Amino acid sequence: MEKLKYERPIIKSLNTGLMNKFGTKTEYNALTHIDGVAVRDIIKDYGSPTFVYSEKKIRDNYQDAKRAFETRYPKVQFAWSYKTCYLNAVCNIYHQEGSWAEVVSRFEYDKAINNGVPGNKIIFNGPEKTEDDLTTAVKNDSLIHIDHFDELYLLTRIAENLKKKPRVAIRVNMDTGIYPIWDRFGFNYESGQAWEAITKIIISDKLNLVGLHCHIGTYMLSTNAYAIAASKLSDLALGIKQKFNKRIEYLDLGGGFPSKNTLKGSYQVAADYIPEISEFADAICNTLLNMGFPYDELPFLYLETGRALIDDAGFLLGSVIANKRLSDGRKATIMDFGVNLMFTSFWYDHKITPAQPFGYHTEDTVLYGPLCMNIDVVRENINLPPLNKSDQVVVHYVGAYCITQSMQFIALRPNVVLIDTRGQTHVIKSSDDLAILEQNEKKPAHLQSIENE
Ligand SMILES: *Cc1c(COP(=O)(O)O)cnc(C)c1O
Repeated sequence: MEKLKYERPIIKSLNTGLMNKFGTKTEYNALTHIDGVAVRDIIKDYGSPTFVYSEKKIRDNYQDAKRAFETRYPKVQFAWSYKTCYLNAVCNIYHQEGSWAEVVSRFEYDKAINNGVPGNKIIFNGPEKTEDDLTTAVKNDSLIHIDHFDELYLLTRIAENLKKKPRVAIRVNMDTGIYPIWDRFGFNYESGQAWEAITKIIISDKLNLVGLHCHIGTYMLSTNAYAIAASKLSDLALGIKQKFNKRIEYLDLGGGFPSKNTLKGSYQVAADYIPEISEFADAICNTLLNMGFPYDELPFLYLETGRALIDDAGFLLGSVIANKRLSDGRKATIMDFGVNLMFTSFWYDHKITPAQPFGYHTEDTVLYGPLCMNIDVVRENINLPPLNKSDQVVVHYVGAYCITQSMQFIALRPNVVLIDTRGQTHVIKSSDDLAILEQNEKKPAHLQSIENE
C-alpha cells in the first residue's frame, strides 16, 4: 500500500451540513458536462486551463433579450459590445442573430469590418478616435457617437474636407440616481452641456444628428435608473423636434445590465436578486411609450448589452496544482488559473464547482492562482469539498471581459473552445506559445548573444 502523505494536524470547528439562512448550500454541486460534453474530455483534448463558450447559450440569451424588448416596443436594434468579448467566432454568432457592432477603438472597428459588418451598422463609441479613425468611419457611413467638444470640432472639420455629412449621436451623461455618476464620458444633461453640443451640431449644419446615446454604468441593479435615462434622452429628442423641427431617429440606451456573477461582499448569490432582462425592458419601453412621441415618430431603441448576454455562456475549466495549510490553519488550494485569466475576480466571487462527484464533507478554502504574485487570489473564501491534485473544477460566468482583459503575465493564455449547437467542439483561439509571445521582440545587434563583444 502506498504510504499516505503527512499533513500537519490542525484544530478546526466542524460545521458540515450546517444550514445557512437560505437552506443548505448548493454552490458546489458537481458540474461534469457542458452542453453534453464531458469536462474531463475537454481538458484531455485542449489542456488545463481552457476557456469554453456555449454557442447554444449565447444564442438563447440573445433571443431571450431580443424577445423581451421586441414584445414591448416596436423598433429595437442590438449592437454587440466588442470589448465584452471580441473573439471573431463569438462576434459572428451575434451578427448571425442580427446584431450590429458597437466598438470603442480602431482595432475593434477594423475587426467588425473584417467580420463583414457593413459600415453603416457599426456604432463607434469611446473617447479616443483619431483623425484617421474618424475619417474612415465617415467614409463608411458608420454611426459616430461624439464624446467631447474637441472630437466634435475635429469631426466637423473632417466632414467639411470630405464634403460629407456624417451621421452622429452625442453621448449624454446624467444623474440617474446611481452614484458616483459616470460623467467622464459624453456631455452632461443637467448642466446644459448636452444642449450646447446639440445646438452647435444643428446650427453648424455639418453633421447629421440622428441619435442620442448614453451608457449609464455597468452591472446596474436598478431598473429605475434606465427609466430615468430613457426619459432624459426622450426629453432631449422631443426638445430637438420642437426647437429645430428635427427628428431624432434613435435613442441608444447603452449596456450595463448585470450578469449572474455575485459581487464581492454580497450575502446572497446574484442569481437570486438581479432583475431579469424583461424588467429592464419594462422600465425602458414603458418610459419611451409614455413620453409623448407621436406613434409614427417613435425613435428606434438601440441597445449595446454586453455582459448580460454572454457571461453565463463562458466557462473556465481548470485543475488543482496543490493543497497547502496556511500558517493560521486555513486550507489553501492552488489552481492552474488565476487573476491573469480572471481579472474579474477582483470584484466578483466567481461561482466555482468541482467537475467530478464528491462526498459531503466540505471545508472553507482559499483558492489561489498559479502566479508568483501575492494578489493572485481567485476566491478569498469558498466552501469546497477536499480537492486532490489534478482534480478539475469549472468556473462559471466568465464569458464577459475575462478574455479581453486577460494578461500574459508569467503564464501563457490558454485555448478557447466553442461547443456548437450540435455538441461539437472547435478551438476558436489557440493558446499562446513562446513564439507568439516573442514575435514582436527585437534584439539590437549588440544584444544578439550573451557573449560580451
Ligand atoms: C462597455 C460598454 C458597453 C457594454 O457594457 P456591459 O456592461 O458589458 O453591458 C456598452 N456600451 C458602451 C459605450 C460601453 O463602453
